Amino acid sequence: MTTAAFLGLGAMGYPMASHLTRLGETLVWNRTPGRAEQHAAEFGSRAVTLEETAQADVIFTCLPTSDDVEGLLDRLLPLLKPGTIWVDCTSGRPAAGREQAQRLQQAGAAFLDAPVSGGPTGAKAGTLAVMVGGETEVLERARPLIESFGGTVLRVGPVGTGFAVKAVNNVLMAVHLWATAEGFASLQQQGVDLDAALSVINASSGRSFSSENKFPKILKREFAPFFKLSLLAKDAGIALENVQEVRGSAPLLAQTAMLLRAAQASQSEDADHAELVKFVEAMFGHGTLIAGEASSS
Ligand code: NDP
Repeated sequence: MTTAAFLGLGAMGYPMASHLTRLGETLVWNRTPGRAEQHAAEFGSRAVTLEETAQADVIFTCLPTSDDVEGLLDRLLPLLKPGTIWVDCTSGRPAAGREQAQRLQQAGAAFLDAPVSGGPTGAKAGTLAVMVGGETEVLERARPLIESFGGTVLRVGPVGTGFAVKAVNNVLMAVHLWATAEGFASLQQQGVDLDAALSVINASSGRSFSSENKFPKILKREFAPFFKLSLLAKDAGIALENVQEVRGSAPLLAQTAMLLRAAQASQSEDADHAELVKFVEAMFGHGTLIAGEASSS
């Protein structure tokens, strides 16, 4: 039977790892150990030391950045069994993934970059979209485990390409979110009923995932912690890095990455990504986007 290990029980990792427990023994490790113990008590996983996770056949990581993964790889590499598969679900950097894959290969292990989309809600439901970079044969060996939390699991190319696709996905989401915030800030200044405007835009060609799913909550000033603004800014930075690597020119993506950095710097460390609208509101000088605020005349 395959033993899985999951390292990094954050907003995503905690629910993702819960699905693995249905398939067999699941070892869990978290930097702050209480979280792993809580997972073990809730889902029947086994909280272990970092070193003990090296005994697993498939090791999953879901950490903020590739550098964080590198830190764990440095410690685990000498302990890994040949044939181990390391599946990194972090939204990471393609170049880092390629380097880590090489280091693992030298130790007789394999690497897949398998970043995810769908947020904590999709992770809990086991319906995440998973974009996988790596060898087909390696993916097929790990597929049953990945499918425990993934509704759509697609190989997009060799190692690093999963990270590249994820970065583009997220910068696109950021473009839509930012542009919608600018549009609504301008509408607010014109006495528009923002609730009505959102409904009509969501029935029109300017709608997006952001306008349909995020803006109804933004207009109610609901900013539940879900996906940190700092992580979105990091993802847009990766998308830009990838453009530079192929010597391309992507001014819209570059501007979005820079705007996200500025918005992040203006908010608290744990601010949700939707809170970028507060920065856009400040750019307009006054007011907040609250639904239904139209002049009755
Ligand atoms: P969180 O901030 O909720 O969790 C981060 C996790 O990583 C925690 O378990 C934290 O441990 C651990 N961690 C942080 N730094 C280190 C380190 N240096 N060494 C070891 N462990 C560390 O992040 P998310 O779960 O939201 O995001 C994880 C990844 O998934 C990111 O790459 C993100 O971009 C991506 N993602 C997030 C989505 C979301 O909606 N939240 C959606 C899709 C992808 P501790 O408990 O000790 O702090």
